[in-house]
Amino acid sequence: MKAEIIAVGTELLLGDILNTNAQFLAQELASLGIEVYYQTVVGDNPQRLEDTIFHAFSRADLIITTGGLGPTEDDLTKETAAKYFGEKLVPDKKALEQIEHFFRRIGRTMTENNIKQAMVPEHNGVVLYNENGTAPGIIIEKNGKMIVMLPGPPKETVPMFLQQVKPYLAQKQEVTFVSRILRVAGVGESAMETLVKDLIDAQTNPTIAPYAKDGEAILRVTAKAKNEAEANRLIDPVAEALKERLGIAVYAEGETDLESVVAELLLQKKATLAVAESCTGGMIASRLVEFPGISRVLLEGCVTYSNEAKMRRLGVKAETLEKYGAVSPETAKEMAEGMARTSGADIALATTGIAGPDGGTAEKPVGLVYIALTHKGQTKVHEYRYAGKRNKIRERAAYQALDWLRKALIYEE
Ligand code: AMP
Ligand code: MG
Repeated sequence: MKAEIIAVGTELLLGDILNTNAQFLAQELASLGIEVYYQTVVGDNPQRLEDTIFHAFSRADLIITTGGLGPTEDDLTKETAAKYFGEKLVPDKKALEQIEHFFRRIGRTMTENNIKQAMVPEHNGVVLYNENGTAPGIIIEKNGKMIVMLPGPPKETVPMFLQQVKPYLAQKQEVTFVSRILRVAGVGESAMETLVKDLIDAQTNPTIAPYAKDGEAILRVTAKAKNEAEANRLIDPVAEALKERLGIAVYAEGETDLESVVAELLLQKKATLAVAESCTGGMIASRLVEFPGISRVLLEGCVTYSNEAKMRRLGVKAETLEKYGAVSPETAKEMAEGMARTSGADIALATTGIAGPDGGTAEKPVGLVYIALTHKGQTKVHEYRYAGKRNKIRERAAYQALDWLRKALIYEE
């Protein structure tokens, strides 16, 4: 099935609204194994809309439109599609009732032009009732061509597609594509690729694609099969082999992130945490705070930036700072231990480093970071050397600290 996506709306052409529907639909169609050849944006103009739809049907079997289903004069998607298919539009009782009900619920009376939204094709049409708005979506299918018309607002488009259109299209597809994502921490993209290269080369279905996204290494395993269950059966052993090869570096599958995994581990182990941050400046705490429910385990975070704060707040000794400097394993250790002691948390993390661009020396270059972790009365310190700009160094250090915490929680170190 060759498909096109047409987004209708002058506001999109003017750049007032970003065409997020096209991105969503493109991803969804790809996952169904439906190839999208063109994406078009067209304004609310009758002639250009007609040209666009007719032209698209000269080269595609399936068109998905969003927008232009509203009650006003310039909402013409349905009328134009009906013209292409030679269909007459007639009022649909259920759609009309739903629109009336919607207006009652929001305490407004329905105006005459809303009836336009309840008009559906007399034959060859499927009405997609709208749970989240007034305009129903419509599918028209005839002579090997199909158009799926969806409302414009994403909060209506997305659920309507997922609940009603996706199963409809899936049942027509002879093949489906299913992808599974493995998230890898603590190993760079190229190192990861080297580790699993033979597995990648040996695979055709599923395929294994390594890539980097938001500073993280990711493996996407994609299988092509008759249905989702069959695809998952193909993916399972390959995902297992990858996980066995990469071990603890694979921190999760699917749509999640490192802080969520760490937060869940803390909650599961009922372990409390406090963080003392110098160079990361609150990034570790901030990332964890993104996780709702973290308040049960995250006790506190301190940005102890000055030497004075490190001494007063964490009890780092003046001699330590003088003798070894603020960026040293000794200071990192005392920071974590001071944090554990004063907060009463089960685990304390501390960071200190040189984020640059100034302040580096030959002995202590920009990018040098010490991370300390105190757990069950034991403190360990690791040294890291990062390349890149100030914020990259800070982000990497925060990420590394979270990953170390994850491993400590799993190994019960
Ligand atoms: P419409 O159904 O054409 O009246 O669109 C209603 C509203 O939905 C617009 O004003 C936009 O805010 C939003 N919208 C329409 N099309 C899109 C799109 N392609 N992507 C994201 N939002 C959209
Ligand atoms: Mg519009």
